[in-house]
Amino acid sequence: MENKIKIAIIGGGPGGYETAIRLNQYGIPATVFEKERLGGVCLNWGCIPTKALVKTSELLRELSEADTYGIAEYSRTQDYNKIFERKNAVVEQLVSGIEFIFRKRKIPVVNEAVVSLSRSSEGYLLTTSSKETYEAEYVVLATGSGSKELPGIKIDEKYILSSTGLLKLSQLPKRLAVIGGGVIGCEFASIFSTLSVEVHIVEFLPRLISTEDEEISKRFALALKKAGIAIHLNTAVEAAERLDNELCLKLSNGSDLIVDQALMSVGRTPNLNIDFSGLDLATERGFVLVNDNMQTNLPKIYAIGDLTGKMLLAHTASKQGLHVAEHVKHAIEGGEHALEPINYTNIPRCTFTFPEIASIGLTEAQAKEQYGEILIGKFPFAANGKAIAMSSTFGFVKTIARSDNHQLIGMHIIGAQAAELIAQGSILIALGAKAEDVEHIVFAHPTLSEAIMESLEDLRDLSIHKT
Ligand SMILES: Cc1cc2nc3c(=O)[nH]c(=O)nc-3n(C[C@H](O)[C@H](O)[C@H](O)COP(=O)(O)OP(=O)(O)OC[C@H]3O[C@@H](n4cnc5c(N)ncnc54)[C@H](O)[C@@H]3O)c2cc1C
Repeated sequence: MENKIKIAIIGGGPGGYETAIRLNQYGIPATVFEKERLGGVCLNWGCIPTKALVKTSELLRELSEADTYGIAEYSRTQDYNKIFERKNAVVEQLVSGIEFIFRKRKIPVVNEAVVSLSRSSEGYLLTTSSKETYEAEYVVLATGSGSKELPGIKIDEKYILSSTGLLKLSQLPKRLAVIGGGVIGCEFASIFSTLSVEVHIVEFLPRLISTEDEEISKRFALALKKAGIAIHLNTAVEAAERLDNELCLKLSNGSDLIVDQALMSVGRTPNLNIDFSGLDLATERGFVLVNDNMQTNLPKIYAIGDLTGKMLLAHTASKQGLHVAEHVKHAIEGGEHALEPINYTNIPRCTFTFPEIASIGLTEAQAKEQYGEILIGKFPFAANGKAIAMSSTFGFVKTIARSDNHQLIGMHIIGAQAAELIAQGSILIALGAKAEDVEHIVFAHPTLSEAIMESLEDLRDLSIHKT
């Protein structure tokens, strides 16, 4: 006799675990099925371990400039073993923290993979890798995504690594090729180049992080080049060959790139690793199709996070999960309630590189396409007092507003603490702020945030310090 559960959440990443906690707060029982550890890619192999390494590279960069700050004779000898151990300790602290919350809230976790899902008399039948069966009324698919490969170039986790493989390396390569200049590839390129690894980025498209505003993306590439990273744009990796202990990448421009190891970062592919036994789950390019409430085409089956291919970020997965919890609560309490759909354009996007990039809303090109005439405000960190005091004058804040009603529709930041600063853009855009609204806000001095204020003022040519 199978175990009966109300809601089965398959996958304990930020999407799945947050859905479970929110349901628990609502008094609705849910069971999480997780084949590895709670936290998913985000806590174990993505956001968190990379940011632990980003902190080390930030520190190394600052120490290398210690003389500028009047600190002389500072040793910057690096010990990758310690850097690696610190990264693992950060992950452990966060993952065990989530496990503690689950124990405290008594949320059951089945530490196994779900291998199949089929119809049952009262809902759905889940079978796990140990052949245990569970019957659930509702199912939330939250199995995330994995690294994509290029045709004919397989990830072997020895010479050609996934991001997870790279994070498991306890020894640094001397030369690293990053195949794909998107967010993940550029973050690793930035980290490893600061750790004195020779880094090459090979990108098929004409620019790095092509989803970002073109102006930002171009300034970014210049900064990476200045930091010593070799960038090969408009170039495809066509084949990979092993030469003794080296790796030879055959590039579409006819040249060979010889490195020790390569990171495959050409995108993510959905983890649809469950046998749906006759359930006709609708997908598009492998990603699960959902409506505004994250409902799939199958009754009482939801999908969230990377699996839906909406915007592959941890906070998208969390937001979708909380939406599902709310939707299920209303369904159980009786009757559907109209919930406000998630506006994916207004989800902030951050790239934790040096320099850091963060954005929200429309890029300049998208805004022009959608609204025709637009207002653009811009303010450089080189004219911001705090940035000068920090010797962090690279970059700028760019704001975009509609020209008809001055409503803010985009914010793009390149420079120090961009990812922290963009929260202000998130708030302003979510509240429907207009260029004039800056008059009702006082920004503390001296702060990097003043660059946001002056960029907003510049939408109406009213920036005080812009020359
Ligand atoms: C290197 C890297 C850096 C990143 N940095 C950032 C960042 O800085 N900011 C950001 O917002 N996003 C970042 N991301 C993206 C972020 O990690 C993902 O968007 C997020 O983890 C997606 O959450 P999820 O819940 O959809 O799935 P996941 O986090 O992928 O979790 C899915 C879980 O499901 C489990 N699972 C899969 N199949 C089964 C099964 N059949 N049965 C049981 N369990 C199963 C997996 O073990 C996994 O734990 C990064 C990603 C990578 C790879």
